[in-house]
Amino acid sequence: MRFQGQAVLVTGGGSGIGQQVCYAAAREGARVAVGDLDQAQAEKTAAAIRAEGGEAHGFALDVTDAGSVTAFVQAAETTLGRLDVLVNSAGIREIVSVLDLSLEEWSRVLAVNLTGTFLASQAFARRLVALGQGGRIVNLASTLGISASPNRAAYVASKHGVVGITKEMALELGDRGIRVNAVAPGVVRTPMTERYFQDPVQSQVIRDIHAVGRWAEPAEVAHAILFLAEERNGFITGAILTVDGGWTIGKKM
Ligand code: NAP
Repeated sequence: MRFQGQAVLVTGGGSGIGQQVCYAAAREGARVAVGDLDQAQAEKTAAAIRAEGGEAHGFALDVTDAGSVTAFVQAAETTLGRLDVLVNSAGIREIVSVLDLSLEEWSRVLAVNLTGTFLASQAFARRLVALGQGGRIVNLASTLGISASPNRAAYVASKHGVVGITKEMALELGDRGIRVNAVAPGVVRTPMTERYFQDPVQSQVIRDIHAVGRWAEPAEVAHAILFLAEERNGFITGAILTVDGGWTIGKKM
């Protein structure tokens, strides 16, 4: 069991990719702190883990609120007795032309995806430094942190920002034993993207942009996240691991 006895904290753990990270980490022996804006969903994830014999606790968390983030890290440390891994999966996205994007919507997406990743990573890293120990952070970037798609200006900007802060924190914290990496998934079937799949034309477009001819399931992304978080991969830091079925390698002629 790759995470036996380790404490794994997951933001956005009530749904989608974050939820699958919680499940996969627990199956590998981790004790899990599930944080989500929707506390009931966080508790549901935790309860499902406990029902399988694992250890997990659900917490209300708003990653845009520094006080909430600090309280989450503190509560996780108190409850689990240690800190090892943080996965920043909380995220939202808009679909609207840049010409119509309001300042409010822009700010909301940046606040959750980028500021939220910064706040949670900072609070977690501060505790690791105070404890004099290392740890691992894995961020959720996106293919849209590497390239762009129309109608997603705030999301694209936020995910490019996540790529940047991943590299910055990896550089600054590497000699303290803190590794910081990110995954950049292609389209993953989760509640965030579910409405694409209700439309056969959109579903086909999604198949076509990935070299493998399909979209991802959230558990596949969770596996990649845990790979980056594993202790034995100690020489990997600042990496942006594409988990994108070949989306970003080129265009099909
Ligand atoms: P999801 O199923 O919607 O899960 C995101 C979770 O984050 C939800 O439970 C959501 O809670 C929570 N959340 C939203 N705002 C929050 C806040 N302020 N504080 C704490 N939690 C908050 O989405 P997903 O597809 O799993 O996405 C997870 C991450 O992967 C995101 O960062 C996303 O950008 C990234 N990603 C997804 C895809 C994809 O195709 N799905 C591709 C690339 C990258 P509520 O439901 O209550 O809002």
